[in-house]
Amino acid sequence: MSEREEAMKNHPAGKGRVDVEEPVDETNEPEWVMDARDRCDACGSQAYYLVKMIEGELMFCRHHFLKNEDKLTKVSYEIIDESIKLEPQKAEAHA
Ligand SMILES: [Zn+2]
Repeated sequence: MSEREEAMKNHPAGKGRVDVEEPVDETNEPEWVMDARDRCDACGSQAYYLVKMIEGELMFCRHHFLKNEDKLTKVSYEIIDESIKLEPQKAEAHA
């Protein structure tokens, strides 16, 4: 092999260089408004519902939200429901 051929072989342009895009590893973690420190305004359990009203905000556990749901939906302009955090995986973790 001649010196020139050797040089061509090792030239980066000759290798059909392709920029492979790394798949972006996006962990699609939902952003929760409430966490374990947020407590129900009625009983102090962990809150899963945030009720936004003109006068302010109230947080409720599932039990107290459901108990007052009719009233709360009337007085609120937005209700954030994070009760999904209570669903399957959580239940299994306690089993
Ligand atoms: Zn409660």
